[in-house]
Amino acid sequence: MRSIKHVVIAGGGTAGWITAALLNKVLGKVINITLIESSSISTVGVGEATIPPIIQLNNALGINEKEFINETNATIKLGIEFENWKTPSHSYMHAFGSFGKDFPFCDFYNFWVKGKITGSEDSLWDFSLNYQAAKRHKFAPLNTIPNTQLPGLSYAYHFDATRYAEYLKTLATARGVKHIDAKIEQVNQCPHSGNITSLTLDNGTQINGDLFIDCTGQRALLIEQTLNTGFVDWSHYLPCDSAVAVQSQGTDSLKPYTRSIAHSAGWQWQIPLQNRVGNGLVYCSRYLSDESAKQLLLNNLPAEPITAPRVIKFKTGRRLKQWHKNVVSVGLASGFLEPLESTSIHLIQSAVTRLIKLFPHNGISDALVAEFNKQSVTEIEHIRDFIILHYKLTEREDSAFWRQCKQMDIPDSLAHKLNLFKHTGKVVRENDELFAEVAWQQVFIGQGLIPDDYNSIVDSLSSEQLNDLFSTLKTLITSTVEQLPTHKDFLAKIKKA
Ligand SMILES: Cc1cc2nc3c(=O)[nH]c(=O)nc-3n(C[C@H](O)[C@H](O)[C@H](O)COP(=O)(O)OP(=O)(O)OC[C@H]3O[C@@H](n4cnc5c(N)ncnc54)[C@H](O)[C@@H]3O)c2cc1C
Repeated sequence: MRSIKHVVIAGGGTAGWITAALLNKVLGKVINITLIESSSISTVGVGEATIPPIIQLNNALGINEKEFINETNATIKLGIEFENWKTPSHSYMHAFGSFGKDFPFCDFYNFWVKGKITGSEDSLWDFSLNYQAAKRHKFAPLNTIPNTQLPGLSYAYHFDATRYAEYLKTLATARGVKHIDAKIEQVNQCPHSGNITSLTLDNGTQINGDLFIDCTGQRALLIEQTLNTGFVDWSHYLPCDSAVAVQSQGTDSLKPYTRSIAHSAGWQWQIPLQNRVGNGLVYCSRYLSDESAKQLLLNNLPAEPITAPRVIKFKTGRRLKQWHKNVVSVGLASGFLEPLESTSIHLIQSAVTRLIKLFPHNGISDALVAEFNKQSVTEIEHIRDFIILHYKLTEREDSAFWRQCKQMDIPDSLAHKLNLFKHTGKVVRENDELFAEVAWQQVFIGQGLIPDDYNSIVDSLSSEQLNDLFSTLKTLITSTVEQLPTHKDFLAKIKKA
């Protein structure tokens, strides 16, 4: 057991710099941190849509929101719109935040299910403040709906990934993180334990460390190339293995949400930033060639492209152990799930949070590593199931890709969730899983699965009371949205400030 005083981070993409900034902020007085990155090896250069917990990360780092929005060309994200996923021309949104008014022991959506079963025409999204604001391109920070205790808007950001890493680099190095721009040429191990002892750089220096964080992206230089940790492949559940990315000119509309548009063998993202739009197509190379994917994406851009399309290959799955010996892998080095629900940056944030909570000050113990790895597996498997759900519930049969998705086997954990929802309308959030009940409900309902039952508490309201509840909530939401500024005006004000 050797106490941990010097942490070496290999790699300086989004993963490397989030890790450096957060470890330094919380543990900077008790450990030294060195980050090594090579400016001759580019970062993956995508990863621009986030989910609401990013706000906690920025707050923990003491980041000023206005400065952050300006520095990273960020926009606001209120949810993700899924177009053509259930059937072509159908769309729904995974809107952040809550719906209607939750009752003790009973989510609002149960009231909506009863309404639906008894003939109400209201859409579930009529009761989402986030959805209504998103579709009208409106936004202002709002903790609660004025004059009520109902929750206001829940939001995340779209931002320029390269600028975000640069921003965190400035912050972290100013606070004491040592930064070395050099290529790691050799990884040196202890012949007895197999632990990593040092990294040899192309400038001839050798960097020793007690704990190493592998943030070298898909190369996984330490955790896989050196320690051969192993990989759990999930491509039989999530068959997409490629993406093509391109940036296009900014558009005037500034939608405060991500668009996810299904195509014949995958789906396209559109992420609006202040100055441009990030675009990409995630696809399965078995059904679509790289050249056809590029063409499909270029034919469906919101404006003229400003970069050349770039193909990125990926493998879906997780590292067998996220922490092995004295190496913790974070970011793409630890595994990858396609960006359908914008979860990768969040997985970086939660891995570093977990590491801080379990930090091995007095030395690495097997029990600690096992706990870290157990929590990591539980977290990523829940997210995997949520992403698979979008594919599994498709009604599309117009291409071999969608037929495969509709018919594929799914993990038992997801099969249980699906059955439970279909027959009882219940969603149970397990082990602090990332996506709350309201997120699952939206994807179930959005993809066309209306449950057979609802919470019996709902029957304590008469049908008149139910109608009153619905109309009061709709009026409240509509009038709140009317009073919000446009997303564009909100950003312009920040820019001016
Ligand atoms: C198509 C696609 C779309 C995505 N979209 C989203 C999204 O919308 N939202 C989201 O949350 N996530 C998204 N992600 C994931 C997100 O991009 C990554 O999680 C995030 O960028 C972190 O990447 P990284 O830092 O692990 O790796 P990288 O960005 O690849 O960085 C690797 C770093 O390691 C360094 N390095 C490598 N080898 C060496 C060496 N030998 N010596 C020195 N340095 C070295 C490189 O210089 C670089 O600094 C997406 C990923 C893909 C593939």
